[in-house]
Amino acid sequence: MTERKVRVRFAPSPTGPLHIGGVRTALYNYLFARQHGGDMVFRIEDTDSARFVPGAEEYIIESFKWLGIKFDEGVSFGGEHGPYRQSERREIYKKYVQQLLDEGKAYYAFDTPEELEAKRREVENFQYDASTRMQMRNSLVIPSDEVQRMIAEGQQYVVRFLIEPGREVLVDDIIRGEVRINSSILDDKVLYKSADQLPTYHLANIVDDHLMEISHVIRGEEWLPSAPLHVLLYEAFGWSDTMPRFAHLPLLLKPVGNGKLSKRDGDKLGFPVFPLEWHDPKTGEVSSGYREKGYLPEAVVNFLALLGWNPGNDHSEVMSMEELINLFDLGKCSRNGARFDYVKAAWFNHQYLIQQPDEAWVPAFDALLRQHDIVSTAEKEAEVVRMMKLKVIEYTDGEGNKKKRNISFVSDLWPLTQFFFVAPETFDTEDKFIRKNWKENTADEMRRFADVLQGIDDFTVEGLKAVVDPWTEEAGIRPWNAWRVCLVGAGQGPDMYELAAFLGKEETIGRMRRAIEKLS
Ligand code: GLU
Repeated sequence: MTERKVRVRFAPSPTGPLHIGGVRTALYNYLFARQHGGDMVFRIEDTDSARFVPGAEEYIIESFKWLGIKFDEGVSFGGEHGPYRQSERREIYKKYVQQLLDEGKAYYAFDTPEELEAKRREVENFQYDASTRMQMRNSLVIPSDEVQRMIAEGQQYVVRFLIEPGREVLVDDIIRGEVRINSSILDDKVLYKSADQLPTYHLANIVDDHLMEISHVIRGEEWLPSAPLHVLLYEAFGWSDTMPRFAHLPLLLKPVGNGKLSKRDGDKLGFPVFPLEWHDPKTGEVSSGYREKGYLPEAVVNFLALLGWNPGNDHSEVMSMEELINLFDLGKCSRNGARFDYVKAAWFNHQYLIQQPDEAWVPAFDALLRQHDIVSTAEKEAEVVRMMKLKVIEYTDGEGNKKKRNISFVSDLWPLTQFFFVAPETFDTEDKFIRKNWKENTADEMRRFADVLQGIDDFTVEGLKAVVDPWTEEAGIRPWNAWRVCLVGAGQGPDMYELAAFLGKEETIGRMRRAIEKLS
């Protein structure tokens, strides 16, 4: 048998914003497809109209555009297997439902919700299957002319898949190996509902995988229970030769504690669980997104790629999309859940941020300054970025512990850079740094120092150095920390010569005189 062309699909239901776990699923599909020169299809599974959320489809498309995950076919991309939106494929599904009915592999069921409810109360752990189906109201029990009459009269029905009990169903999973399931535990899944004349997810998903010639189904572990039905329906249709291979990806777990990652974890610990900001059209609620938080798409991709897979110890964790495509190995994905380490996500962002030229930071930095009513120039802003981007900042983690980390986001620069643009107004004499560095005679020393600066014409780092270095030797004064108090108002900031050169002569001396006055 010749190798099949690799064709994968990402098939979300447009029920809201795309969860970060869904992004990882799409990414793994993409890496796998690219690696094998295959195709990636974008299919919208919108057969459950009750759960449809306007804007979700557009949101998903925009997310992938931002992340650089490209589709070859599908909704908004076109292709030869369309339409790719399931709500536009009704007629196709009807034909396949009819085929199963004609061959006796599916049957009509007329049980009302109330009847099903009554049965559930009567029979413990009720399941619609071989053990119960003959007690129900369906075409296996009701004579066929009666069935035809009921349908003609407009009685609502569903079509159920007839599952033969006692069979071993083999699910061939690249990550989990051979998973064997006894068909007796499966229920006769509803494939079609007359009420909305639409197939259910189960039928549409599987028929489309066949029609779209999907070779590999790579999806979250939560879909593993649907896999046996995939196998059985392919068999019922006579498509077993082209059964896709499965890969069920490990769950994303909470950063701390047990269980699946949820939006609440993100809210509590302050990280997004969606790629882009999402505005809920019904509630108006706004959920934060990686893009708006200041993440670079490359960092998000890199971070997500490592949640469930890694390239081995002798390879750097920082990998471009190209490297990921080369190195990714679906067969080496973990079976165990992957902990969502959001601190690591910020670390990745740092790695990518510092690779960027300083000018690339300017638009975001400029926007940040404007939020604080500061207008500056691109040159000045790039200069501040150069001086400050490698600083370490302190933060408090989700458990209230004080920690240190590098700049991870452009927005981290604000507390570190205000003083470049705004002169310190007040001086906290309780501040440890100020107390330690502002003594009895400091005001006097600073006055002398200001006079020296006044005489410098070349107010650049070199020009300052040439005059100030020898002066400090001669005068026996070490002005650095007190000078910092004057210009910054605290024990932070860049090299003092760099800062003074940035501020310029007038501003530097002005800040010194004001500090001397206030601290005396
Ligand atoms: N529509 C399903 C979802 O929302 C697709 C599951 C699958 O990939 O088979 O994820």
